[in-house]
Amino acid sequence: MRKPLIAANWKMYKTPNESLAFLKEFLPLVENHERDNIAIFPTMSSLAYCIDACKGSRVDVGAQTMHWLNEGPYTGQTSPTMLASIGCDHILLGHSERRIYANETDDMVNWKLKAALAHGLVPIVCVGESLEKRQSGLTEAVLRWQIACALNSIRAEVPSTITIAYEPVWAIGTGSTATPRQIAEAHRIIRREVAFRLGQHCADETRIIYGGSVKPDNISQIMAEPEIDGCLVGGASLDPKSFSDIIHYQD
Ligand code: 13P
Repeated sequence: MRKPLIAANWKMYKTPNESLAFLKEFLPLVENHERDNIAIFPTMSSLAYCIDACKGSRVDVGAQTMHWLNEGPYTGQTSPTMLASIGCDHILLGHSERRIYANETDDMVNWKLKAALAHGLVPIVCVGESLEKRQSGLTEAVLRWQIACALNSIRAEVPSTITIAYEPVWAIGTGSTATPRQIAEAHRIIRREVAFRLGQHCADETRIIYGGSVKPDNISQIMAEPEIDGCLVGGASLDPKSFSDIIHYQD
């Protein structure tokens, strides 16, 4: 049984003080929430503060990116060892904003995924097609390619902790959410590709979540699809009440 994950990607928002002010208001709102896993992905400068503030709570904390090596002359980078050493337990990999603005390639996503698994970090691998690819009928080809590259030479016995986030680039920060039907179809494509690469058992256990303009008023339609195991929320996760409303969509 896949336990849903509702996660907040704060991107380049919130200073450490703003992150802590968010948590002060947010943590009491979710302290009895057991139905879903909850995670936040603050900026690197807020990470250690948030990990500390979330200790003993129901909220996991992850980083938005990392390098795949343990150390080296790579200015500006943070390694998996460094993240694990401060108690960081989740890692976002291959977000489209990293692919577009930081030239992150499919190979790098694969190296980072292997590093995350080796260090016991729970990886959330982001995939998704651009509007141009969707309009050219290439959604399935893009998703299969991104998954195949990410999972390259990963063994089937390791990855029960892998989560995949389907984030169509055209739905991120645009207000135009993919329809639940479009999402479910993409998730089926992703799950079939995971089954092809790692076997059906592994595919059945892999959590596939959706990201792209998720808000309190569309979360229940999205989560009504059994193929959708949670959400990765950007803009609407920046306000504690709004993110809590998303988490409590069934209440
Ligand atoms: P928005 O919810 O702002 O569209 O962002 C989605 C996203 O990129 C989450 O990783």
